[in-house]
Amino acid sequence: MNEFDFIRQYLHRQQQDKQLILGIGDDAAIIRPRSGYDLHFSTDMLIGGTHFFPDVAPGDLAHKILAVNLSDMAAMGASPRWALLSVALPELNKEWLTAFCDALFALAARFGVTLIGGDTTKGNWIFNVNIIGETPSGQALRRDAAKIGDDIWVSGQLGLAAAALDMHWGKVKLPADVYKTCEQKRLRPEPRVALGRQLLSLAHAAQDISDGLAQDIGHILAASNVGAQLNVDAIPGLQTLRQISDDEQQLRQWMLAGGDDYELVFTAPPVQREAILTAAQTTVTPITRIGAITASGLLQLKDNAGNIISLSKQGFDHFG
Ligand code: ADP
Ligand code: MG
Repeated sequence: MNEFDFIRQYLHRQQQDKQLILGIGDDAAIIRPRSGYDLHFSTDMLIGGTHFFPDVAPGDLAHKILAVNLSDMAAMGASPRWALLSVALPELNKEWLTAFCDALFALAARFGVTLIGGDTTKGNWIFNVNIIGETPSGQALRRDAAKIGDDIWVSGQLGLAAAALDMHWGKVKLPADVYKTCEQKRLRPEPRVALGRQLLSLAHAAQDISDGLAQDIGHILAASNVGAQLNVDAIPGLQTLRQISDDEQQLRQWMLAGGDDYELVFTAPPVQREAILTAAQTTVTPITRIGAITASGLLQLKDNAGNIISLSKQGFDHFG
């Protein structure tokens, strides 16, 4: 199989899309934007050895490269619409590519995303997706919109993927059922797109958590020029993680600085509490209120008893 067989046989699938004028097969795709909508562009890359193990299942890898990009759209309340996929592979293996493409198109179809192009080269395991999404004009959720007095909410459970990764590194042992839950979070994150869309009219600022809550919420605080106080004992994930360890410091590192969560953290005025809980219910997304935006300019972590908590590491940094 050569590059062109791969593109024709594996990627060039019929997809329903009214705004797509020209898809895969020409030098560039053509999309006709809708009036009344803004377009969002984002890109995220996975590199073998850095972001995934060499023996990762192709379906899991395909899910993750698209899911992490969908998560960026979710964070802005955007509806993901189109994706471009660039790959560097050492060889074109039929079985591997079939499993990869099946998982990719399955997830794309579930979220209404059309694959409109990409690039294929020989190389050492790099996967990059460019994603394009839409929001009604002027309504996107941004990092710079948090207000003093806002509640802080997170979706899902934090720290589970980080715990699964530590099991791979041999740092901890997880009971089989907990490992299954944590490994599922690490390999098959569920992008919170439906929740993000519902939050457009309810929340002020939002962001997805990919490098640890403490670090990622810091981006909202910096952009909005505010502070925050979080109750670390309220962070969802604690109950699951307590089955692995009773070392509070370790639990907090996973939940606050672990990375790979792909959950949303968002701020909203307290008057929206009921509506936000309803939105979470409608979209079948667990959410938890974990703190409030303050005027301090700092991120303050406290436990149930009011003790101040400090972390040894804030989150993941490729160059840190
Ligand atoms: P060019 O030489 O102009 O870069 P290519 O031969 O690389 O074009 O690609 C041919 C077509 O196949 C283009 O429409 C491109 O977008 C698409 N394509 C190539 N690789 C991929 C990929 N990995 N995923 C999706 N589409 C791809
Ligand atoms: Mg090309």
